[in-house]
Amino acid sequence: MPALINGKTLATRLREELGQQVSRLRERHGITPGLAVILVGEDPASQVYVRNKATQACEAGMASFESRLANRVTQAELLELIKRLNRDPRVHGILVQLPLPSQVSQAQVIRAIAPDKDIDGFHPLNVGLMATGNPSLVPCTPLACLLLLKHQLGELSGRHAVVLGRSNIVGKPLASLLLREHCTVTVAHSRTDNLAALCRQADILVAAMGRPGLVRGDWIKPGATVIDVGINRVAEEGRTRLVGDVDFASASQVAGAITPVPGGVGPMTIACLLLNTLHAACRQHGVPVPDDILSRAWGDAATSPA
Ligand code: NAD
Repeated sequence: MPALINGKTLATRLREELGQQVSRLRERHGITPGLAVILVGEDPASQVYVRNKATQACEAGMASFESRLANRVTQAELLELIKRLNRDPRVHGILVQLPLPSQVSQAQVIRAIAPDKDIDGFHPLNVGLMATGNPSLVPCTPLACLLLLKHQLGELSGRHAVVLGRSNIVGKPLASLLLREHCTVTVAHSRTDNLAALCRQADILVAAMGRPGLVRGDWIKPGATVIDVGINRVAEEGRTRLVGDVDFASASQVAGAITPVPGGVGPMTIACLLLNTLHAACRQHGVPVPDDILSRAWGDAATSPA
């Protein structure tokens, strides 16, 4: 059997460590990191995500501010709220839960968030900084994948990573982060030919497509490390079940290590959101970011261009 990469346990450990750093920040500098979450509409899954984020922020000793807006909210109203949060000194990180209703431009909303409070790392300034190997706020799910990989493998340099999916929130930023770690990176997407053959070349295989169970055991190189980002709700015998993009039963016969769904990338993603909030708070107050937190999230500052 392969090693199970237990995201739940690692996330609990990271949150405890963050809680200690938050206490220190409050005692030494009088700063309480504040996380503001904006939820538009009543999507049940989004409500659960937002509740979990707020609860875990509070448990780590952070301040949590929640704004719930009706599904019919206008773009102007949402932008006004973001402007207010940008100015609020108690708020160090702002997260707008996606997706947004169609009358609101997601791109404009993301651009309205002050880059130093953009704890999702989606603002074009942060995207550009990350892509050029500079310190920046980094999107939480790719950061979660990176931390899981580093925990499992240590050094990633020279390994061939195949990333399935090229979205702006997972695939593309993860490819940037893996390049920064000196992996050889292949990004595949819905128009890629011979996906299975490509996957079989991967030392590290990350699946982020939203296609339940697409990656099967015979797509995986024996001993490879498999990170399953997918979260898919499938109906089975009258019940809904969460499954990933990897067929766990067959993949776990071949992989060297694999994340489960649920309990893999998901819990680490929320822990990374708290990590980003702590980092944003330190930077906004000119307080040095604790070394271990900095190196976890940002590696060795910049990638050499070679
Ligand atoms: P998306 O729909 O924005 O992008 C999907 C990507 O997969 C696209 O680039 C597309 O080209 C590619 N793709 C689709 N079908 C493919 C196929 N058959 N072969 C190859 N490539 C294919 O999705 P997203 O927002 O990046 O999310 C991907 C998955 O990750 C979803 O299941 C989502 O729920 C999950 N997710 C999980 C977390 C977490 O915290 N665990 C966070 C974000 C997203």
